[in-house]
Amino acid sequence: MKLLYEGKAKKVWEIDAEKVLIEFKDDVTAFDGLKKDQYRGKGLLNKKISDYFFKILEKNAIKTHYIRSVDDRNFEAFRTTVMPLETVVRNYAAGSFCKRYGIEKGKKLSKPLVEFMIKSDELHDPLICEDTILLLDLATKEELEYMKRTALKVNEILSSELEKAKLILVDFKLEFGKNSNGEILLIDEITPDTCRFWDSETFESLDKDVYREDKADLLSTYEEVARRLEL
Ligand code: UDP
Repeated sequence: MKLLYEGKAKKVWEIDAEKVLIEFKDDVTAFDGLKKDQYRGKGLLNKKISDYFFKILEKNAIKTHYIRSVDDRNFEAFRTTVMPLETVVRNYAAGSFCKRYGIEKGKKLSKPLVEFMIKSDELHDPLICEDTILLLDLATKEELEYMKRTALKVNEILSSELEKAKLILVDFKLEFGKNSNGEILLIDEITPDTCRFWDSETFESLDKDVYREDKADLLSTYEEVARRLEL
């Protein structure tokens, strides 16, 4: 199969004009790739967790690229052209939001916030406002509204699912892609690499922050997430 793309944590292989294979690697990076490691088994865990979230979203009428699981490390997905934006939803203050606005970590936001960032390692994914997105033709008004609406729906679905597993969905990043019919699909992965999960009683991190901040072992943390989701 032809390798279409290799990112920090995944490879995308061409199946045909309509479909791709998404392979989850064991690599983990943080701080724009400055910190880098490998954890044997991480790819399997993230693939399993992603499968689970995509299936729940599909059941709740969210259009995603997910087609089916192929094996431990790979799932089949619809091929899309990736939108040049990252969509972040926040329920609690954490990470770059705290740094940017000087807000204390852990503050619950009065309502979920949707932010957009330009996907660019070179520019360090800068925050971009909606008018600038339109001005730079990065998306149309309709596409932007769709992404925002979908991101908020995803937030509701995943937050209530995670609550059952005694996890708080603090924030997460989504990516969208356009298929050959011009339809926008939710793509990429939904994993502890791309979400912040806090234990609902102790507020301890059960996500990539344990790696970013050297707080705990990444693999056992991701295993704990899978265990709580009964995977
Ligand atoms: N995130 C991500 N990829 C990125 C940037 C952020 O998956 O390139 C996720 C991150 O794990 C968190 C949310 O998006 O769940 C918000 O991240 P934030 O903007 O706070 O940036 P960070 O603190 O991760 O640099």
